[in-house]
Amino acid sequence: MKTCLKCGKQANVDLGYTSYCDIHFLQVIIKRVRKHMIGTFDFKKTYSIIQDQNTQVAEKLLEKIYRGKLKTKRVKTNQNNTITTHLLEDVTDEFVSSFLEDKEYKIPKGIHPFIVLLRKEFYEVARIFNTQWEVLPSLLDDLEKAHPGTKFATLKSLNFFEENSSNSEKSLKTNNKK
Ligand SMILES: [Zn+2]
Repeated sequence: MKTCLKCGKQANVDLGYTSYCDIHFLQVIIKRVRKHMIGTFDFKKTYSIIQDQNTQVAEKLLEKIYRGKLKTKRVKTNQNNTITTHLLEDVTDEFVSSFLEDKEYKIPKGIHPFIVLLRKEFYEVARIFNTQWEVLPSLLDDLEKAHPGTKFATLKSLNFFEENSSNSEKSLKTNNKK
């Protein structure tokens, strides 16, 4: 029997690298998305959220994360300030296929709270919310199996975290001066 890393109770979620009970798994996910989105949302505004196969779970998760304070309405087309439901593999697969086809990769427009979640993590979130959701295969699945962390490393290489990368450049420069 696998046990939860945090409380030692029986783990329902086994992610290979670690296992959690439902409560602690959800805590980890909420913390990760919240951290990724720090300073992004203005709770006085109403945000549009794209309507697709992920929206139901995405909305429930946002409600948990922001305790109902984030107001959203569903839309069918993606604008610059629309919340997307892209998951990590949606972004990395697009990047890898652009690379293979020698096309320029463009970061999709919109706000992407869920790109820090793997499909298998989103599947577990859906299960906890009693919603059916199918995990589609990804181009990086085999690499991820051989080298755990490949998917997150690929995401990080895509400049989604521009502020962070310029900060680290700055600190590198400062260090050089010393
Ligand atoms: Zn636990």
